[in-house]
Parts: sequence; structure tokens; C-alpha cells
Amino acid sequence: MPASPSGTDPAFSERKQRTAEIARTLRAFIRTKSTHRRGALFIETLVATILSQNTSDVNSTRAYTELRGAFPTWEEVADADRAELARVIKSGGLAQQKSGTIIAVLNEIRERHGSFEPSHLDTASDDELLDELTSMKGVGVKTAACVLMFSLGRDVCAVDTHVHRVVNRLGIVHASNADKTFHDLRPLIPKGKGREFHVDLIRFGRNICKARRPHCFECPLYDLCDWEEKEAYAAAAIPGSPPVSGDVLLLDILPERSAPRAKSRAR
Ligand code: SF4
Repeated sequence: MPASPSGTDPAFSERKQRTAEIARTLRAFIRTKSTHRRGALFIETLVATILSQNTSDVNSTRAYTELRGAFPTWEEVADADRAELARVIKSGGLAQQKSGTIIAVLNEIRERHGSFEPSHLDTASDDELLDELTSMKGVGVKTAACVLMFSLGRDVCAVDTHVHRVVNRLGIVHASNADKTFHDLRPLIPKGKGREFHVDLIRFGRNICKARRPHCFECPLYDLCDWEEKEAYAAAAIPGSPPVSGDVLLLDILPERSAPRAKSRAR
């Protein structure tokens, strides 16, 4: 993992303060209550997040539901014929690739740990878990961070296309891709706010700071934003803008764990 920037660096301190103000302003703007789910089961979250890659929540939810209907146990998925699994999850897109990833990941976890719910999930550090998950082919930083956030209750903020776009426009990070954004953003996020910041940034990115024609004219973060094009978009108000929606996220369909996971370990 990249080295953390110094807390005594004035530029870093300014960005950290600004990130905290952005997180507070966003929370007040969006207001939708954070979900209080205890955390979904580990392997369910990992497979659902793989299915969600490069498709919509609607499609990935359908694919996940069809997978669970066709293969009631994870043992059956791990031992499945790849073509058959691809047929079952077709609605989620990239079915050939995702079926291969799911079968390989399940087999690797079973071989390494003898179980689909490894015992070290509660004791390993965030970095150890990120390293282990991203060492598996087909599991990237975003997928691994989603598993840490949504299943294990760890204090990280996964970076998807919305989070990457918004925080780079705001200017709190300057990164060329989502994985670099994840590492640069990580030390800036207020303690305990990783998941909440992730969810708020996605809602904000879907509804206000859109990829095309962002709604800078109604943006609560306007004064905190460095984006050089914001003035032009602020002058181009779009009437009848839809309200910020509370739609989140694919993981709402997953079964919850019976007990809360440990909080983040030292990095
Ligand atoms: S001012 Fe515009 S670019 Fe900046 S955060 Fe708001 S919507 Fe996004």
C-alpha cells in the first residue's frame, strides 16, 4: 500500500479539513438516513460485488437472485460448470468473465481457509484484507473495499466512478484513476465516516455532480469546489431537476450477519 502523507504537511492538513467540511455538508444536504444494517455475509457480499461490476444495480440484483435460485449453496457455485454459471448470471453482463472470476475466487478461498467464512476476517487488518482480496484475479480495489465496508464493517470508502469523479472535481485529490483516488482519499476521510461518505458521494454523483451537465447551479459544495468549469455549469441551470434519490445499493438484498463485525484495525 502507498505510504500515508504526513499529517504535518500544510497542504495535506488543508485537504483533510476541507474533506471533513465536504462530508458534513453532504450529509446535511442529502439527509437520507444511513442504513443501519449490521453487515451482509462475507461471501454473499463478495459475489454480489463481482456481479455488480460494469452494470446497474437492477441487473446485478437480478443476476444474484438467479444465481442463488440455481445454486442454493456456495459449494455448488464453486463446483459449477463455468458455461452453466455464465448462462445463469447472463442478466448481469460480462457473464463469461464474471462466472470465471466467481468460480476461481470461491475455490481459492475454500482452499486457503477451508471455509467460505474465514475465521481471520475479524482479526486481520484492513490492509491485510485488501491485499488478500486484491491478490485474487478479477477482484479489484473497489470490489475489495466494498466487501470491507458492507460486510466487515471496516472504516474505508470504496471508490467507484461517481466517487472518483466528484472528489477529483472538488480537488481534494488529483488522481488519474479510481484506485489511486482510493489510496489518496483514504487518509483524508474523517474517522468512522468511510461508508457514510461513500454512500453520500454516490447519491450526490448520480443526482447533482453528474458526469455530463453537472448541476453546479444548485450544488451545496459550490464554494468548496475547485473545478474550473463550475462557473459555466452554474450559469446553465436546468429547470425541473429531480430531487436527490435515496436509491442505494445492490447490497440491500443480502442476508445480514447475526453479529456486528469488528471495527477497522490499524492500517
Ligand atoms: S460545483 Fe459542480 S463540479 Fe463542483 S461539486 Fe458541485 S456539482 Fe460537482
